[in-house]
Amino acid sequence: MLDITTTPNPSPRSDADLAAVLAAPGFGTHFTDHMLTTEWTPGDGWHDARITAYGPLSLDPATAVLHYAQEIFEGMKAYRHADGSVWTFRPFENAERMVRSSARLALPQLPAEDFVHAVDSLVAVDERWVPSLGEDSLYLRPFMFASEAFLGVRPSQHVTFMVIASPAGAYFKGGIKPLSLWLTEEYTRAGRGGMGAAKTGGNYASSLVAQQEAIAHGCDQVVFLDSAEGRYVEELGGMNMYFLYADGRIVTPETGTILEGITRSAIIELAQKLGHPVEERKFSIEEWREGIRSGEITEVFACGTAAVVTPVGRLEWDGGSVEGRSEPGELTMALRQQLVDIQFGRADDTFGWMHRV
Ligand code: PMP
Repeated sequence: MLDITTTPNPSPRSDADLAAVLAAPGFGTHFTDHMLTTEWTPGDGWHDARITAYGPLSLDPATAVLHYAQEIFEGMKAYRHADGSVWTFRPFENAERMVRSSARLALPQLPAEDFVHAVDSLVAVDERWVPSLGEDSLYLRPFMFASEAFLGVRPSQHVTFMVIASPAGAYFKGGIKPLSLWLTEEYTRAGRGGMGAAKTGGNYASSLVAQQEAIAHGCDQVVFLDSAEGRYVEELGGMNMYFLYADGRIVTPETGTILEGITRSAIIELAQKLGHPVEERKFSIEEWREGIRSGEITEVFACGTAAVVTPVGRLEWDGGSVEGRSEPGELTMALRQQLVDIQFGRADDTFGWMHRV
């Protein structure tokens, strides 16, 4: 287990400042008083794990990650329950996904127990930053990057793992409204043998121009298709997708080139428990368009850590659109409520998903 030393921030945020941040946290702009860092070198493994005051890093301009993007990250949240206790949601799943990402990016493995211990330790030190309002939470961002100053193209011989934390407001303010989606037929996110299943910065860098295109067309988010045939629905820029049929079946794109969402597998289990058979398979864009037109598809929704579960309405592409629902569907909202209730400790955690910090 990582041996973590803690040097408290000598000038933590004042109670008044913190209260102002927590009154309107937004997303990803305010950071807690501390950060966790540990480093890896061949032979020594992970060492010098420390929690210190949050602050800028000093990097040599030749630091490998700045050139070759050898980097991975995770996204998860800590939730405060009514009794004041603080919990994370399936943190070992994030840890294991990071192990899979590290294998793809030729980065060293951080054992799952060390990952969870690191995240827990930072959350414990910055506990007062975990919001208690509504569905606000503390967003946690573990990440690992090539920190060797070397311009040769090979796996870095010095790697840094860090955890930072940022209070996050509820994703939807002023009610849950269906998202409108832009189908990009020009850009793809991942190909066979590529990095689609890894949570690595490059996948997000390559999605930005497609997301810009979505915004330019008045849509909220972009939908990616598979790169081989340009026919099968993969996922959104940061969420996995589901299609509910009138007969109760739910279809969700199979894994392989998509990110295997922690929320995705939770939704599959919850839906099955509610009696909905779930098919994980290739799902074509024609099936989506036709299903909406014929009324066979009754709800479309997306899920991820940030938005939990969000309804999908209109789908638009170059030269056409299908309307979808203008109000959230019943199952979409039921799944969302069940998940949020488990996360915030308002419902029994029958799946054993919650982890007390
Ligand atoms: N797909 C992509 C591309 C994502 O970035 C995310 C967010 N991590 C997801 C799906 C959903 O994953 P999770 O449920 O683990 O947040």
